[in-house]
Amino acid sequence: MKLKSLNKMLNIKNVSISVLIFFIYLNLLPAQSVPYFDGDRAYKHLQTQCGFGPRYPGSEGHGEMIKLFTNFLPPLCDEFKQYKTPVIHPMHGDTVLLSNFLARYNPTVEMRIMLLAHWDTREIADMDTIKENQNTPIIGANDGASGIAVLLTLAELLANNPVDIGIDLLFVDGEDMGVSGVAGSYGLGTKEVSPLLPYPRPTYAICLDMVGDSEQEFLMEYFSIQQASHIVQQVWDIANELGYHQFKRKFGIPIEDDHRVLFNHTGIPAIDIIDFNYPNKDTNYWHTIEDTPDKCSAESLQAVGAVMTELIYLENWRHK
Ligand SMILES: [Zn+2]
Repeated sequence: MKLKSLNKMLNIKNVSISVLIFFIYLNLLPAQSVPYFDGDRAYKHLQTQCGFGPRYPGSEGHGEMIKLFTNFLPPLCDEFKQYKTPVIHPMHGDTVLLSNFLARYNPTVEMRIMLLAHWDTREIADMDTIKENQNTPIIGANDGASGIAVLLTLAELLANNPVDIGIDLLFVDGEDMGVSGVAGSYGLGTKEVSPLLPYPRPTYAICLDMVGDSEQEFLMEYFSIQQASHIVQQVWDIANELGYHQFKRKFGIPIEDDHRVLFNHTGIPAIDIIDFNYPNKDTNYWHTIEDTPDKCSAESLQAVGAVMTELIYLENWRHK
């Protein structure tokens, strides 16, 4: 009786140890294989873009960005594409040439994640409280450069730490040419590139927009919940687990961003990571001349980059 009970105890102990080892394995294996996302590097990418000045179609900075993408991205990825499409400018009716760029990793793999961000900046600061500023082009440190800064850093990180799943990094032009309040006049680059995207198409997509605010707060955006609630859940779970509690478990307002346009034109489940209260509920630098690098931080870019990195390498581990 005593012996049996001892055996029983030992068995229980063995089971507990196995369970413990299993959980340690589950928790540590992905963590060990997740590379470090460098927020300072991302912030440098943000500064470089802002150094080009405003980057709306036709501007000098727009041309500099095209050079940056075509020089920087091809050595880092397996397949690089540039899509040039002329569009009618919704504000002034002339024809402008948009360039969307796609950097693909493992281009034939079915399981793939797309990360997208827009690289153009708004031609006018039409939300500026000072009337004289409202025709001035914005620098777009947060609205434009921040999402691209994370994507450029991820492009380098993926080149140095290869994955087996497919990754599509989409750098979108012509997001911010819209006429305020006119539906369909924003997200023109995504609309143009949607029918041209190669197969296999992404399993899901995550859009990064206005992710660099130094007073960061992300709400669960309305269309994202509608289009891909499981992805929102997964991203927010990862963020909170990593200690990034600026990813709030609160619902946000609907925002017609590139994730909406992509979903409407391709059916790819897509979410938006966006902090629209820039910097907070009382003040907003969105579409004003105040959208400059000093309002953004390396720490904020780091948070978003680290969450995206964790997601990519977790998915990679799951699909091994
Ligand atoms: Zn904008």
